[in-house]
Amino acid sequence: MTKLANLDWKTYEKRVSDGDAVILLPIGAIEQHGPHMSMNPDVLIPEAISLGVSAGLDNALVAPPIAYGYKSQVKSGGGNFFPGTTCINGKTLIDTIKDVVVALARHGNRRFVLVNGHFENSMFIVEGIDLALEHLRHEGIDARILLLSYWDFVNKDTIATVFPDGFTGWDVEHGGVLETSLMLHLHPDLVNLDKAVDHPPATFPPYDIFPSDPSWVPACGTLSSARNASAQHGKLLFDVCVNGITQSVRSELG
Ligand SMILES: [Zn+2]
Repeated sequence: MTKLANLDWKTYEKRVSDGDAVILLPIGAIEQHGPHMSMNPDVLIPEAISLGVSAGLDNALVAPPIAYGYKSQVKSGGGNFFPGTTCINGKTLIDTIKDVVVALARHGNRRFVLVNGHFENSMFIVEGIDLALEHLRHEGIDARILLLSYWDFVNKDTIATVFPDGFTGWDVEHGGVLETSLMLHLHPDLVNLDKAVDHPPATFPPYDIFPSDPSWVPACGTLSSARNASAQHGKLLFDVCVNGITQSVRSELG
């Protein structure tokens, strides 16, 4: 379990020059997550999961997370109008992903796992990967990149345990049971469950409207209640994600 940037460059060079290392790159966002939690779960959760996965692999390194993400959207992140929510535009994110992957590949790395923690990032990461691979091919470098969003590894049994009252979907989980439980497990000092606002899951029309309408979003900023969150559920969620991702990396990247 090694953070890439904590190595000196000589040690790093030795670890990666034969192309055998697996580089995990967490990608998140700085975004309000309700009055009960810090604004960095989308960064800290994929970073912790990446470190957990790296512990089960030979020669895996976790790169410093890309902390800023694409603009928070009303129906998945509460929207881009809350104080503290600090977003970058799509082309900045695409260029950042591309530049970081190309740089790491030029060091000798050929196997990457991009671990997304913020729904809105998804297609911009795809574009960054596509441009990076195209760029690298011109340099005669072939790399292989596994892209995932960690919540897709939460299986039906875990959902049934963590959401005993019924599961309303990942899109309205913003600041809800999933992220709050994981943060209670990983960083309890950054959560104060007493401040969580109990409200029914947000409901939205089957379209978006621009400019965004803040009245669509619960005033507290969460899209569902964190009331049933617990560190115990957080550990369950963490373990199922780490185990599933580790298996996928082994089967896809060898
Ligand atoms: Zn989040």
